[in-house]
Amino acid sequence: MYAADAPQTCIYNLLVPENPANAAALAALNRRVVACERCPRLRSHCTAVALNKRRMYRECEYWGKPVPSFGDPAARVLFVGLAPGAHGSNRTGRPFTGDGSGDFLYPLLHRAGFASQPNSTHRDDGMVLRDAWITAVVRCAPPDNKPLPGELAACAPFLDEEVAALPRVRAVVCFGKIAFDGFLSHLVRTGQITRRTGLVFGHAAEYRVPGDRWLLASYHPSLQNTNTGKLTPAMMLQVFRRARRLAGISAP
Ligand code: SF4
Repeated sequence: MYAADAPQTCIYNLLVPENPANAAALAALNRRVVACERCPRLRSHCTAVALNKRRMYRECEYWGKPVPSFGDPAARVLFVGLAPGAHGSNRTGRPFTGDGSGDFLYPLLHRAGFASQPNSTHRDDGMVLRDAWITAVVRCAPPDNKPLPGELAACAPFLDEEVAALPRVRAVVCFGKIAFDGFLSHLVRTGQITRRTGLVFGHAAEYRVPGDRWLLASYHPSLQNTNTGKLTPAMMLQVFRRARRLAGISAP
């Protein structure tokens, strides 16, 4: 529930009262993300989408800014997505909220014990994540869901900083190959690996990586994958439950 201007420390304090520092760091990071203007193409696109709106959302006030991460600062599982959806997160201001990807994802996060409720509809819907933090390799909605290499590079420092502020993470679940490659780039940038040899994307692939962590891959919960049956709820739930086990979290 830790969006940029949400009361970031309350749930955190219930979970790990001995160390509120990383909750404050994550909240500050989220505020810088929301104010970021590094990618002119993406900022223009998000603003234009927010102004023009999709007909079915014409009564909604779109978020239209970079989308802050969301979750539990004491998380032991980190979920990494690609980028906000134009009429999903770019509308609601919360990762995977307000479009088909989120409608697929959150009920499964709930069944796996990470989410307090099955539906994520808007930023004030009361959703709380437990032991999970959701981020993305790009935090502004890109045209056609395709960020440019320079945009991925521009956003990458936020991921580096975020991972450093999540010391309890033991399993990282990447949704889709771009997110998986983005996390590998993070490992290279931070000197944790020197090359990617043997780290191959595939659904349910898992690798031991430095930092006492596991890296898991999943197909992205896009409608393109879920409507065609390439990714089923059972397939995703299997990855979520495996991530819990690898992170040392007991069954819900
Ligand atoms: S994609 Fe990332 S780096 Fe680029 S403007 Fe958005 S928040 Fe900033």
